[in-house]
Amino acid sequence: MLKADRIVQTTCSYCGVGCQLDLHIREEIIFRVEGRFDNEVNFGQLCVKGRFGYDFVHASDRLRRPLARASRRAEFSPASWDEALDRVANRLKGIRDQYGPRSVAFLTSAKCTNEENYLLQKFARTVIGTNTVDHCARL
Ligand code: SF4
Repeated sequence: MLKADRIVQTTCSYCGVGCQLDLHIREEIIFRVEGRFDNEVNFGQLCVKGRFGYDFVHASDRLRRPLARASRRAEFSPASWDEALDRVANRLKGIRDQYGPRSVAFLTSAKCTNEENYLLQKFARTVIGTNTVDHCARL
């Protein structure tokens, strides 16, 4: 049996169930995924996505940093996280200030954890001031 250089404990990112798993990594490649038994979420079980869906991690065309463009017609170019987050924050603030909080809506994802979804609705309600929050599972 192939031996891992290291084993990384993590949470499956495919849905909000939050199954716990171990990534077996050799030469920086994930070659095996095992469900963890020491938790009350999945007791070692994983669905087919959680067990086999990790090719994307090593995809050559995977985005590894934010892309931004100066205008709608400009080409995308790499940006730092600070630049990208500043742009999003300034744009959201500009829209909210010009058109009101109800002009902004938030759509969350089943791929996020419950905690991430909670934070997004909290941000929407307390920072932006809108209750227009929905979830892709309802579509
Ligand atoms: S293993 Fe399947 S059920 Fe568990 S979190 Fe991942 S996608 Fe969801």
